Amino acid sequence: MNETVKKYMLHLDLDSFFVSVERLLNPDLNGKPVAVGGQSNRGVVASCSYEARAFGVRSAMPMAKARQLCKKLIVVGSGRANYSHYSRLVTDIIANEAPSFQKASIDEFYVDLTGMDKYFGAYEWASELRQQIIKETQLPISFGLGANKMMAKIASAQAKPNGQLWIKHGEEQTFLAPLNIRVIPGLGAKSCAYLNKYGYHFIRDLQNSSENRLIQLCGNNGRILWLKANGLHDTPLTEYSERKSISTERTFFKDVADPVKLKKVLTQMTEKLTYKLRTKDRLVACVAIKIRYPNFETITRQTTINPSASDHEIIPAIMTLFEQYFDPKKAIRLIGVRLSHFVSPEQQLSLFIDEDKNRKLYKAIDLLKNKFGDDTIKRGGSL
Ligand SMILES: [Mg+2]
Repeated sequence: MNETVKKYMLHLDLDSFFVSVERLLNPDLNGKPVAVGGQSNRGVVASCSYEARAFGVRSAMPMAKARQLCKKLIVVGSGRANYSHYSRLVTDIIANEAPSFQKASIDEFYVDLTGMDKYFGAYEWASELRQQIIKETQLPISFGLGANKMMAKIASAQAKPNGQLWIKHGEEQTFLAPLNIRVIPGLGAKSCAYLNKYGYHFIRDLQNSSENRLIQLCGNNGRILWLKANGLHDTPLTEYSERKSISTERTFFKDVADPVKLKKVLTQMTEKLTYKLRTKDRLVACVAIKIRYPNFETITRQTTINPSASDHEIIPAIMTLFEQYFDPKKAIRLIGVRLSHFVSPEQQLSLFIDEDKNRKLYKAIDLLKNKFGDDTIKRGGSL
């Protein structure tokens, strides 16, 4: 008997994540209209509380406009170190419990629960995971469960705040029908306006249309739109691989005990790796050094950092490790650097101006490195 396996996809989404973190750090913010983002009026809203949303404040809105809409708006932003820390706590819990998962952004995750329903209910499993996250981190989180990623994502958005929702197999069309086409992931304001012009306002309007008509209006995207409207759009999980790393090491021709020389080598090696990191548009949250002594005794020591690809953040972390574990009485045979725990630079994070400025600076440096080879520009330490 060839039974088709039912797919179960779970989407977990922390509720107004940055605001929730700020509230953990300062409970006075509870129950008040809060926005996280740049303090100046030139900034934008990265996240806002439901109390602020009641005034019409939304994510990505200019802060000046948000302040106009809500006179009592409290603007905070304690920095991305805190957000990364709490994001990591949640990621670790999910990584421990989930068979396979994808970290879609700093505050959302997909978990593939296909096959789990044989042993216990996927919905029960998801409920327990959600309660565990709430208990251990004190952060509000919602989830949606459905037959594919899109259904799960739409369901979690409908479940918010602090809720959970399961769209059972076969109930997709009925569930989607009354919803505004705006809720369809990937459908921007412009596309919505375009579709509105042709009389498509609710998902039911798309369901009642023929696939061919949508292709006529939207080209190739018309077919995807039709699949989405009917709850059939299915994309695979992009698995989160935390164990990947990049590293480099050097064995000395003659053992070296001079800390100045060793630091110089470490700096050079780190610069090579951070350059590679930036060309791949990745940040790392963990740095490590490896030291091997002439008797082949080897030590590896690591530390976590705020996700970064910047020399001025990663090199000092490496130097601190080195100073902590370097034994001036012992010469070194081999030294190495490893960067791991890759994170893709979240768009949300770049809303913070400092980060943006740094990225521009390193872009300029890398441009020169590309042009003239990567020995052109060295920081003071590695000259
Ligand atoms: Mg969220």
